[in-house]
Amino acid sequence: MRKKHPKIKKDDKVIVIVGKEKGKIGTVLRVDSEKGRVIVEKVNIVKKHAKPSAKTAQGGIIEKEAPLDISNVMVVCNKCTEPTRIGNSLLEDGSKVRVCKKCGEPMDE
Ligand SMILES: [Zn+2]
Repeated sequence: MRKKHPKIKKDDKVIVIVGKEKGKIGTVLRVDSEKGRVIVEKVNIVKKHAKPSAKTAQGGIIEKEAPLDISNVMVVCNKCTEPTRIGNSLLEDGSKVRVCKKCGEPMDE
């Protein structure tokens, strides 16, 4: 059976709904549907000590987004600005669009 994941895509705006980052809103940078994880811009930042290298001459601390479990975030609708579930709607030409379940507006352009 296929695993059911929320239909989150890159560039979606999401809000964190559980954990220490709860309430934070950011843009999805990457979706790993295999592992069920997302990387959200400026959310769940971890600091890593970097060794001196060609890129970071001094070494030091770099900040990086750590992946979040996909079930810990919800898409924020850019029409009604509410955290929402995503539904599917069939267009007249037979193509599917993602729609906001709160306001019914399409999520994609
Ligand atoms: Zn909406």
